[in-house]
Amino acid sequence: MEFGFTEEQEKLRKDVRDFFMNEMPEDFEPGVETMFSLTKEQTEFWMTFQKKTGEKGYLTPGWSEETGGLGLGPIEQGIVEEEWGRTGGRWPNFSGLHIAGPAVQVFGTEEQKKKFLPGIAKGEAVWNQAFTEPEAGSDEANQQLRAVEDGDNYVLNGQKTFITTYVKPDYLYTLARTADTEPKHRGISLFLVPGDAPGVSYRALGSMGFGTQVDIFYDNVKVPKENLLGELNRGFYHAMSAFEFERSGTGGPASAKRSLEEFVEFCKETMRNGKPLMEDPEVRRSVAQMAIDIEVQRLIAWHAVWWFSEREKLGPKPYDLSGFFTKIFSTQHPETMMNIMGLYGQLRTGSKWAKFAGKVERRWQIARSVHPAGTLEVNKIVLAGRGLGLPRVPAKFNKQIAKALGEKK
Ligand SMILES: Cc1cc2nc3c(=O)[nH]c(=O)nc-3n(C[C@H](O)[C@H](O)[C@H](O)COP(=O)(O)OP(=O)(O)OC[C@H]3O[C@@H](n4cnc5c(N)ncnc54)[C@H](O)[C@@H]3O)c2cc1C
Repeated sequence: MEFGFTEEQEKLRKDVRDFFMNEMPEDFEPGVETMFSLTKEQTEFWMTFQKKTGEKGYLTPGWSEETGGLGLGPIEQGIVEEEWGRTGGRWPNFSGLHIAGPAVQVFGTEEQKKKFLPGIAKGEAVWNQAFTEPEAGSDEANQQLRAVEDGDNYVLNGQKTFITTYVKPDYLYTLARTADTEPKHRGISLFLVPGDAPGVSYRALGSMGFGTQVDIFYDNVKVPKENLLGELNRGFYHAMSAFEFERSGTGGPASAKRSLEEFVEFCKETMRNGKPLMEDPEVRRSVAQMAIDIEVQRLIAWHAVWWFSEREKLGPKPYDLSGFFTKIFSTQHPETMMNIMGLYGQLRTGSKWAKFAGKVERRWQIARSVHPAGTLEVNKIVLAGRGLGLPRVPAKFNKQIAKALGEKK
């Protein structure tokens, strides 16, 4: 396998890096001033930044020029994403760029593509992925939000929960029940719902990590039929394919690498018991282990990108494990850093006694909210089925297990 990049690809990397370096504020602190708990001014800054990046085509480099992209291949997309990951920032429209947008690309009509994609590519529109409900998290097929046909519209009633929203969304990429079928996943459809449609309301949850999740309520919300995405009652299958986009990427490892580099500097500069932390053998071992983890994560991410670029020749794509490792390491690494820092690791950003700008405490909290894109257990189930091709547990056995558990209670 060739591990290098071409001259053009290296030039693209330099252009993208220069653009981010010039446009990001000099005092930007990755990992602290990200999209979490933003002030109004910071939110405005990130929206403006998103638009500037969209004007360059760097938000969606792989999309066609008609839809606002640069028409580049998977390797080039990986480069742009890696450079963005290095900066440590977040897009307000993460869900539009990585989930709803790709789904519209794949399953949308020509009209839908024309109507929705340029707004995402230009960084103007913000989308939320509105899938999770109180009883439909991992059990995504158990959707209760109901969409009922009414003339030229569907009328939606129900609730979503734990939806990440950095700013008020322009659109909600919504999963809803359209038929009472058995099995349940055959009666679900996808809708593109305006975020300010009459009957849509939001309630902040104030969670510990991301701090920006909401409940969303749909009260007789009318959605025109042309906003149905893909086939009626096939929404579950469409949504599952689109999850691949959320679970992959080169940005995560790049962001982790930058954090570790900063942490190494901190360990070199910080004295304990009369010598730099970095001279403590246990600290050296832990830092080396984190570096190995991140390198593995990075290589897996690039392997998946390479596979995407070759997939016509190679057949079905593999399950990309980089998102899986991002989940594992983004939980473990802040814990390790916390141990190395001792009590100072617990001091918050803003405390004048905080070391390393309080980033470790923040990351430690964020690391506890590892549910976006599904839990680790569910990721393993997907890996077993799609990645390794292991047979699924037949439905009849699931029923037998549920019955046995029920009988024991
Ligand atoms: C920070 C954050 C951001 C989020 N953003 C969004 C968003 O933007 N949009 C959105 O739609 N949702 C979002 N979610 C919701 C997220 O998708 C769900 O939390 C996730 O799918 C898990 O569902 P649940 O919370 O209902 O857990 P449950 O399904 O209730 O699971 C509870 C526990 O049981 C385990 N479990 C469940 N089923 C199995 C099984 N078959 N085998 C083994 N173990 C199992 C799980 O792993 C977990 O540990 C977000 C969540 C968080 C924490």
